[in-house]
Amino acid sequence: MPVQSRGRDTRTDLYKPGERCHLTGSYICETCRLADRDKVVQVVADAIFPLCAECPDLDMGWRLRKMSN
Ligand SMILES: [Zn+2]
Repeated sequence: MPVQSRGRDTRTDLYKPGERCHLTGSYICETCRLADRDKVVQVVADAIFPLCAECPDLDMGWRLRKMSN
């Protein structure tokens, strides 16, 4: 297993719209984050990740920012 690739593939941390959430928490849109917008949604476990309202691009992803219990 190539060790140097660890941490480079950040896409694996991203959840795509339509994917099922398994961890309730706050998720930030990665595309918005890169554009200095702070687009955060609350998603509960077993819900489906929504599209980002700020992003016309479907190729966006949500990244877990803060877990909630
Ligand atoms: Zn977005």
